[in-house]
Amino acid sequence: MSAKVRVRFAPSPTGPLHIGGVRTALYNYLFAKKHKGDFVLRIEDTDQNRYVEGAENYIIESLEWCGIAFDEGPGKEGDYGPYRQSERKDMYRKYAEQLIKSDHAYYAFDTADELDAHRKDHEERGKTFIYNWHNREKLQNSLSLSEDEVREKLDADENYVIRFKSPKDEKLHIKDEIRGDMEIDTSTLDDKVLFKSDGMPTYHLANIVDDHLMQISHVIRGEEWLPSLALHFMLYRGFGWDAPKFAHLPLILKPQGKGKLSKRDGDKLGFPVFPLEWKDPSSGEISTGYREDGYFPEAVINMLAFLGWNPGTEQEFFKLDELVKAFEISRVHKGGAKFDPEKTKWFQQHYMHEADEKPVAEKLEYILQKKEIKASSAYVLEVVKLMKERAVFVNDIWEQGYFFFVAPTSYDPKNAKKSWKEGTSEIMQELIDLLKEQQDFEAEALQVRVKTWIEEKGIGFGKVMQPFRLALVGAMQGPDLYVIAAMIGKEETISRLQNAINTLG
Ligand code: GLU
Repeated sequence: MSAKVRVRFAPSPTGPLHIGGVRTALYNYLFAKKHKGDFVLRIEDTDQNRYVEGAENYIIESLEWCGIAFDEGPGKEGDYGPYRQSERKDMYRKYAEQLIKSDHAYYAFDTADELDAHRKDHEERGKTFIYNWHNREKLQNSLSLSEDEVREKLDADENYVIRFKSPKDEKLHIKDEIRGDMEIDTSTLDDKVLFKSDGMPTYHLANIVDDHLMQISHVIRGEEWLPSLALHFMLYRGFGWDAPKFAHLPLILKPQGKGKLSKRDGDKLGFPVFPLEWKDPSSGEISTGYREDGYFPEAVINMLAFLGWNPGTEQEFFKLDELVKAFEISRVHKGGAKFDPEKTKWFQQHYMHEADEKPVAEKLEYILQKKEIKASSAYVLEVVKLMKERAVFVNDIWEQGYFFFVAPTSYDPKNAKKSWKEGTSEIMQELIDLLKEQQDFEAEALQVRVKTWIEEKGIGFGKVMQPFRLALVGAMQGPDLYVIAAMIGKEETISRLQNAINTLG
């Protein structure tokens, strides 16, 4: 590759970034870093009607959480800014006018009502109204009206749009880095609006002008933009600019069956489709996010990387830096990629096992703080060491190990019935007396002492150990009981035994 690789992620801030958008950002990032290039974030906010408060921040926070760092973008100015299209507004008009001068575009004055009437009329005849070469001479535009008429309308400030003049029947040959060579027939394309009299460009014009001015070398984006490719190609040609290379990423499909994964699927099927939780500013509706559901970004990144790509080897676990090395755009699939929420959990489990205990402990401390439970950092770290092996999420450590932090407030009724019988309270009282005398409260010493005592008494182990566990944990779960007793300490162990006697005795 000769010229410097520069790619961009160009979301419109119309709502929370969908997980598919994160994948587009990720693949752009991987491609850029692989080729020692730049990754640009450009906010495409020309459509003010669809602007959603907070969406831009959400996009930036999502990328940050994933570790997908941009080299240039809002708040990280480079040589090609500004990086918000609304701040670039004034530069687009001259490009639209340039296309008119070179006969690649024209003014159109048809009102919304007139266009509606045409649409209805076509519908009634079982046809679709397309504004292009086959009817543009009969419509209200600078190709059908005289120069004077056009001038008059413009001077009178009549509303207009600038439309691209799509060629009649040309076969375009365009290469996509993933799909290969494509032939597109221009005769069915409509004359897309590029610019409106309110001074705002549409997506198509702003996108091409900015990609050119920002010296973007590769456009990597979702398959849903494939229908725009012919127009974009013709725009570059109309301007006389070299087009970047294009790569359209495969659709992300629902876990079951066919169809595109939609923003609604997550809540319907019970898994997040957003990186972070999102609260809709107008309805207040909350959509869950991977971060809040306890996933590590490594798991989400690993899952997304495989959603449309594979390394061609058996290796499945890749951290971001490993992905940078392994990623090849030529290995991205054409066919849709099925979303697999279970696989994400599997990645999460792996990264939980791999995780250092300290950061996990910090996350657990955060959960405890929210529950207003006090525990020293050293103690929380010990619990993590004991419980991490069996956990997928940090919250599992709380759910499977709450008894390290709080005494049971109730006892599982089934277990209680089975293990707390006639005489149990007396045995537990004897155990309390024994523990009171015990100096060394380490797990091993405790075990030796209690075992000897049980043997001396000549009763079954279950008669002691089951109610003992019930008293400390509240149910028949958790790791080695002596470890639990040693962790919570002598005083707490005795107090929990006493509570159980009072409640169940
Ligand atoms: N603003 C478009 C979007 O929201 C950008 C598409 C493109 O990458 O060209 O996805």
